[in-house]
Amino acid sequence: MNAARQSDPTPAILRVVLPLPLPQTFDYLSNGWTVPVGARVRVPFGRSHRIGVVVETTDEADVDRARLKPVDALLDAEPLIDPGLLADLHRAADYWCGAFGDVVFGALPLALRDGHATTDFAEQAWRATQAGTAARDARSRRGGSAALLTTLGDATLSASELDTLLPGWRAAARRLVAAGLVACVAPPATAPRTREGAAPVLNDEQADALASILSAGTGFHPFLLHGVTGSGKTEIYLRLTERMLQQGRQTLWLVPEIGLVPQALRRLRARFDARIAVLHSNLAEGERARAWLEARAGAAAIVLGTRSAVFAPLPRPGLIVVDEEHDASYKQQDGFRYHARDFALLRAQSLDVPIVLGSATPSLETLANVEAGRYVRLRLHHRARAQPASPVHVLDLRGLKLAHGLSPALLEALDACIARGEQALVFKNRRGYAPVLLCHACGWHAACPNCEKPLTLYRGRRQLLCHHCGHTERAPEACPHCGATALIPQGQGTERLEEALVARYPDVPVLRVDRESTRQRNAFGKLLDRLADGKPAILVGTQILAKGHDLPNLTLVAIVGVDEGLHSVDFHAGERLAQLIVQVAGRAGRADKPGSVWLQTHEPDHPLLATLLQGGYDAAAALQMGERLASSLPPFAHLALLRAESARHDALDAFMAAARDALGRPVGGLRINGPIAAPMPLRAGRHRAQLLLESPQRPALRQVLAAWWPRLHALPQPRGLRWSLDVDPVDLY
Ligand code: ADP
Ligand code: ZN
Ligand code: ZN
Repeated sequence: MNAARQSDPTPAILRVVLPLPLPQTFDYLSNGWTVPVGARVRVPFGRSHRIGVVVETTDEADVDRARLKPVDALLDAEPLIDPGLLADLHRAADYWCGAFGDVVFGALPLALRDGHATTDFAEQAWRATQAGTAARDARSRRGGSAALLTTLGDATLSASELDTLLPGWRAAARRLVAAGLVACVAPPATAPRTREGAAPVLNDEQADALASILSAGTGFHPFLLHGVTGSGKTEIYLRLTERMLQQGRQTLWLVPEIGLVPQALRRLRARFDARIAVLHSNLAEGERARAWLEARAGAAAIVLGTRSAVFAPLPRPGLIVVDEEHDASYKQQDGFRYHARDFALLRAQSLDVPIVLGSATPSLETLANVEAGRYVRLRLHHRARAQPASPVHVLDLRGLKLAHGLSPALLEALDACIARGEQALVFKNRRGYAPVLLCHACGWHAACPNCEKPLTLYRGRRQLLCHHCGHTERAPEACPHCGATALIPQGQGTERLEEALVARYPDVPVLRVDRESTRQRNAFGKLLDRLADGKPAILVGTQILAKGHDLPNLTLVAIVGVDEGLHSVDFHAGERLAQLIVQVAGRAGRADKPGSVWLQTHEPDHPLLATLLQGGYDAAAALQMGERLASSLPPFAHLALLRAESARHDALDAFMAAARDALGRPVGGLRINGPIAAPMPLRAGRHRAQLLLESPQRPALRQVLAAWWPRLHALPQPRGLRWSLDVDPVDLY
C-alpha cells in the first residue's frame, strides 16, 4: 500500500477489494469524493454491483484509465477498518496465501459486508429494574424469565453477552420489559470497575508471573504462561485485564472454542463491571455486528471470543490473551486458512502490546520460540488450590477380558467413585456405537461408497455414517454380501460406552457428550448444568470434554482408548495425543477432593506413553521435539500444502502436474514432495492429491509461495476441481 500518495489533494483512483477468492484488487474512479482508506464503497462489477472496501487511493491506475468506472456510492465517511488493521490483514493475506478481498471481508461481521450502515446497530444493554431484582429474590418468576433475571444479576449486559450466557433469552426479555422488570438501556458510560472481594490472594508463583508481565511494561512482549491445569492462569489473565481497565485500554481475550466462551465470560463478569463485547459464531448476525462495532468504537473494554474475534478492531489496545494456545481449533480449516494465535502475535506486534499465550501443554512451535528466546516463559507448577495433580494409573489391557472395552480394574475404580458420591469422566475419542460393522461369517465390513473407509455404526439411530463425507445409510440386519446375520460391531464409540455404563449403573445418570449429543445450541451448557449440583454422575465423551470445564465433584478420569493415536501417520499425532491425555487428566480432582486418572492401553511401553507418564508433558514434548528435529519437520522446517480434489482423476493429475511445473526448479533448500495421492485418496466420491513443500527457512518458503500462488490462480482450472493452499498446515489430510 502506498501511504505517501494519500496526502495528495483528492487522488482520483480508488483501489478496492471485493469479497472474491481472487488475488487482485480493482480500480475505480473516485468521482471527486474524498474516500478514506478502509471505507466501504458500492461499485459496478460486471453487470451488477458489489460492496467493496477501499484499500488504497492513488493517481496511477493499474489499467487504462479511460476504461475505469466511477464508484456508485460511498458507504462510510470514516474508515470501517482502520489502516492498522487493514495493513495487518494485508500481511495475513500474504502470509497464509489468502485473497486480500476474502480476508478483508472475512474480518467483517456478515451484517456489515452487505452495506448496512454502522448506525443501524445502536448499542443496547439490559438490566433488571428494582422490581425485577425483587421478583428474582422472591422467586416469583419461573422458567426463562427466572433464568434471565438470574443471569442479569446486578449487571448490565449486552445482547452479545446474553446470547452467550442464555441462548433464546429474547422471548423472556420481551415479557419482562413489558412487565417493567427488565429495562433495555443505553450501555452505561461509567468507568469499568472491579467488584469488591472477588479476587483470591495470589500464590508466589502467580505473583511472580504477574510481576514479570507487568514489569515488561507496555509494548510488544510475548509471554508463554505455562501452567498446569488449575494452576491459576485465568486468574493471571484477570489481573492483567484489571490493569488494562485501570489504564483505559482494551483486552482481547481469545478461547479456542465456543463451548469455553460462557465460562470465560462468567469469570470476567464475576470480577468486573465493564463493557464486554463477545464475538463468536453462535450470535445473531445483528449482535455480532453490534459487538464488533463496540470493539471498534473503543466502547467495549474487553473483547472476548473465538478464532475470528482476533480480527476485531481495537482502537485503544492494551493486551491480548490467547488461552489454550496449543489448540488446533485456532487454525481455520477452510477458506482463508489463518491461525488465530499467530495472527494474534502479528497484531500484538503491530499494536505494540503484550501478548500472553496460556497453556498447560504448549505447542511445539511455541516451545521452540521460547527456546529461541523470542518468548518469555512463565511457569506455574502447582495447582492454585491445595490439591496436587492426580496420580495416573496405567491399565495394561493385554490379554485381559474386557466388557465393551472397559477393563475389570477400571470398573472397580468406577464403582468406588460412584459409591463415594462423586462424578467420573470416561473419555473416548470416537463418536457412534462402533467404528466398524463386520460380518463374522464372510469378513465383509460396511464401507462408505464414496470414500472406501469403514462406516461408523450408530445403533440408536440404526444408521451407518461416514465421518469423512457424511454419507448415511440404514444399518443392515444381515450381511449384504453373504446374507448371514452374524454382524458384529467392532470396537467402541461413545454410544456403546454409554450403553454399557447405563447397564452397569442404572441409578446413576450417564451423560454422553460428543458432537452428536451437543448439536443443539447450548446443549452442552445444559448438560454441564445438570452436573453442577455435584450429585454422582458419569460423563462419557470425546475431545469436547478435554477442554477447560470446571467440575468440582469430578474425581475420576478414565481414558479408555488412546492406542489409535499412537499409530497415526500425521507427524502432529504424538504432540496432540500427549496434549489430549494431559488435558483430559487435568479434569480430575480440581476442587477439594483428590482425583485419579486411569489410562487403558495395549501399549504401556510405547515410548511416547512411557515418557509422558514418567516425565510429564515436558518430557513428552522434548521427545517429540527431538523427532521433529531428526526428520526436519516443524518447528525446524516450514510447510505449505497444496491440496486438490476432483471427481475426475485425469483433471486432478493434470492440475497437479501443472502446479508442480509452476514451481520451477527448487531453490533455497526447498523440498518438494509430490504430487502424490492424499493420505485419504478418495473422499465423498472425489479423488484427492497433494503436494507438500518443506523449507528449512521461512523467508525462502514465503518467497516461493509469493510467486507460486498467483501462478496457481493463473493455471487452467478444470471444472469441478477444487484446490487450496495451506500454509503451516495443522494436519496433512
Ligand atoms: P487455570 O486457568 O490455570 O486452569 P484457574 O485460574 O481457573 O486455573 O484457577 C483454578 C481454580 O483455582 C479456580 O477455581 C480459581 O478461582 C482458583 N484460584 C486461582 N488462583 C487462586 C489463588 N491464588 N488462591 C486460591 N484460589 C485460586
Ligand atoms: Zn457376510
Ligand atoms: Zn464417505
